[in-house]
Amino acid sequence: MSDLACDRCGRSLLVFEDVRYEVVIRVTAAYDPLELDLDTIAKADVSAELERLARAVGKKTAQELEDEVWKELKFDLCGRCQREYLKDPLPRRPDP
Ligand SMILES: [Zn+2]
Repeated sequence: MSDLACDRCGRSLLVFEDVRYEVVIRVTAAYDPLELDLDTIAKADVSAELERLARAVGKKTAQELEDEVWKELKFDLCGRCQREYLKDPLPRRPDP
């Protein structure tokens, strides 16, 4: 028997639940179209920016770079946790 359990409360989904739920969360970077006027950008500015980006990328692992633009998470939920999750899927961060 599989040990499939609710990722929120740990309850066995095969023993106690008739229905289980899957939550798929996809977080992707959202880019706005670039509004560049290439005639007004000096070539020196472009080169400096490319060098700055290359240095920033070089300090990160491939996984860190991938996580910055695309990440998918999957969870299994029992019925009770599914209802509670739908009431507040993205709780607000408390004020610092
Ligand atoms: Zn649960």
